[in-house]
Amino acid sequence: MLIEIRNLNYIYNIGSPFEVKALDNVNLSIDKGEFVAIIGHTGSGKSTLVQHLNGLIKPTSGEIIVDGHNLTDKETKLNIIRQKVGLVFQYPEHQLFEETVYKDIAFGPANLKLSEEEIDFRVKDSMKKVGLDFEELKDKSPFELSGGQKRRVAIAGVLAMEPSVLVLDEPTAGLDPYGRDEILEEIKNIFTAEGIAIVLVSHSMEDVAKLVDRILVMNHGKIIMDGAPREVFKNQDELESIGLSVPQITKFMKALKERGFDLNTDCITVEEARDEIKRYLERN
Ligand code: ADP
Ligand code: MG
Repeated sequence: MLIEIRNLNYIYNIGSPFEVKALDNVNLSIDKGEFVAIIGHTGSGKSTLVQHLNGLIKPTSGEIIVDGHNLTDKETKLNIIRQKVGLVFQYPEHQLFEETVYKDIAFGPANLKLSEEEIDFRVKDSMKKVGLDFEELKDKSPFELSGGQKRRVAIAGVLAMEPSVLVLDEPTAGLDPYGRDEILEEIKNIFTAEGIAIVLVSHSMEDVAKLVDRILVMNHGKIIMDGAPREVFKNQDELESIGLSVPQITKFMKALKERGFDLNTDCITVEEARDEIKRYLERN
């Protein structure tokens, strides 16, 4: 098991009149190479949960084990954790701060005290993997780049650390739907090819339905559902009652069924729905 979280509780401003219980007895395991989405309404605890994964937040109580390292153990060095868990924030481009693309991507590996040669290899390799031209961009300022390119530089910086898990906290905020699909698809291809697990925080079912192996639904600091997208989307009423919705196409198939068409409604992509409707038409 790559990540093991046991009885995790987190309270902000503990002991003050402004106490907020942000995580309420969370238990969770994530395997090597899994692609997991964490979905929930604003304030449900998603960011608080993922910030525990790389030691940005210390639990109020409970245990977190990442790749054999117990984060709650005082002996565990933060730099080991930060190498193992790559974290990309809501606006990855805000994480860029060096004067050249090269230096920006080299920053993490340089902190790991790797050799110049190894650093150079990792910068080239990760730029290639995210589709950035090394010669063209290495000496440019990250701030001269387009929004999409900036995000790629930030992602290359994480990849260059060779993490075991990548955590993305709403990485597509501010992108149009096309740009969003494109970058998530790319992230999936790049990281799963390396055997790196991905934890993607999102408030949109639509975005994650076709990408991930597993969805965790959070509400009021608890994980209330955990399963394959198809299984999770069967709970349409419960999801709607906590401000979430199932993908449009799943709703559409249910609406057809309610109108008397005997269809299998657990379709989560337009392609699956098309095939199911075809089968229906052939039968009738
Ligand atoms: P999400 O990422 O799902 O929107 P968060 O983890 O940010 O949720 O927030 C969970 C709860 O903790 C919310 O009630 C939020 O208001 C509260 N919270 C988040 N960050 C802080 C903070 N720095 N100080 C106090 N309360 C916070
Ligand atoms: Mg958040």
